[in-house]
Amino acid sequence: MLTRHLLKQASTCRHFLLNSKTSSPFLTKSIFFSSSSSSPESQSPTNTFVDDKVNDQYPTGTSISIDRSALYNLPEHSHEPTSDSELVKHLKGIIKFRGGPISVAEYMEEVLTNPKFGFYISRDVFGAEGDFITSPEVSQMFGEMVGVWAMCLWEQMGRPKQVNLVELGPGRGTLMADLLRSASKFKSFTESLHVHMVECSPTLQKLQHHNLKCFDEDDNSDGVEKRTVSMLAGTPVSWHALLEQVPSGLPSIIIAHEFYDALPVHQFQRASRGWCEKMVDVSEDSMFRFVLSPQPTPATLYLMRRCKWAAPKEIEKLGQIEVCPKAMDLTRTIADRISCDGGGALIIDYGLNGVVSDSLQAIRKHKFINILDDPGSADLSAYVDFASIRHSAEEVSEDISVHGPMTQSQFLGALGINFRVEALLQNCTDEQADSLRTGYWRLVGEGEAPFWEGPDEQVPIGMGTRYLAMAIVNKKQGVPVPFQ
Ligand code: SAH
Repeated sequence: MLTRHLLKQASTCRHFLLNSKTSSPFLTKSIFFSSSSSSPESQSPTNTFVDDKVNDQYPTGTSISIDRSALYNLPEHSHEPTSDSELVKHLKGIIKFRGGPISVAEYMEEVLTNPKFGFYISRDVFGAEGDFITSPEVSQMFGEMVGVWAMCLWEQMGRPKQVNLVELGPGRGTLMADLLRSASKFKSFTESLHVHMVECSPTLQKLQHHNLKCFDEDDNSDGVEKRTVSMLAGTPVSWHALLEQVPSGLPSIIIAHEFYDALPVHQFQRASRGWCEKMVDVSEDSMFRFVLSPQPTPATLYLMRRCKWAAPKEIEKLGQIEVCPKAMDLTRTIADRISCDGGGALIIDYGLNGVVSDSLQAIRKHKFINILDDPGSADLSAYVDFASIRHSAEEVSEDISVHGPMTQSQFLGALGINFRVEALLQNCTDEQADSLRTGYWRLVGEGEAPFWEGPDEQVPIGMGTRYLAMAIVNKKQGVPVPFQ
């Protein structure tokens, strides 16, 4: 009912419609893999690595440590080019002072979120001028549909008077802006909300503040902390670097769109001595290169945990495996919060409902590049392992249930995106109609748009089946819409 209500109301509300986003062929992170890539074997971008042959016997001892000495000897005279970026110098410094290579996960974390030099930290990386584009930037309909999902969940929660609406990794804040704008007519919903943006980048926090049309209330003399309020729906907004910093004790609705794919992954390679972790090293000519750890590393514990959740057949066929301990830990934190406080979480990302083999990729200015090429100048992301999210959540508590994944196309379709696009098309210019159709295709279509008449290189590519949606909810609320 809410869905129909929202669509009807939205079609008469011109001011937030058709903020024409983009119809150009900018790169979304899922495009690299062909549609046959559901087989983990075919996920491999062409990363080269050096298999360090030292100590090719799998150790029999039970203790897990890294013998870095066998992997890396610093050249006596390092010919480091002076043109290295600050981040490259920093990474080489870590490798040098540790006396050996670092894990791919540590490399990825430093590249993306190093507090001084990380890719996300000091600039806006989204859209035409940036490096890649995401669904909320493609069309306003994405944030609106996620808003419908959040309102339906709030109904199922029994319309609580106070709710934390949490977004993890909000980018430019576009999803939340479209959600709040479209929900603003449903006062009882928006009046219950306190929006919490979990964002590590100060630059993006400022952009989110701007895009949510926030104003900072004057300091009160009575010592009450000053509030920031979004003019889009009159909701208070707060920022945090970690989910753990969002106050607990209230039911939560948590949204994570393209957040999990930015969490650092460890990569393992099958070698004659067993599973070895792929590490990042510096070669004698001062270039980054991959090497294999000669012994089990601490992350092997997570590999073992991940393999336990999989059928032996699934593992046997793989030569490489990626695991994401941060995704497992984050999921536990989410599940724990939902189990204690009530509510639910929606995770939308590109990935697989099974073990991920080798998916880590780098994108700079809408082009795929080598992962080790000029770190910090390109986005790094990896396929999300939805099966691992399910297992991590289910281990936390009997009080939560996990639903999906279903494709983004099924998810948005069931929430009524077809009606929404029709409503918007009734009242727009020709140019806006083109942009709407293109945006719609990119959100729910599969492959190249059949209606496209423009230049071949600009054909819109659908992400409807490449992106998946999963929900984690407190069982008290029953099965969330539209996972019934
Ligand atoms: N959800 C947005 C942006 C996705 S990009 C969209 O769909 O457009 C990933 C976002 O997560 C960015 O805002 C980035 O700064 C943030 N981010 C990445 N790693 C993070 C971390 N460890 N903690 C908090 N924010 C993080």
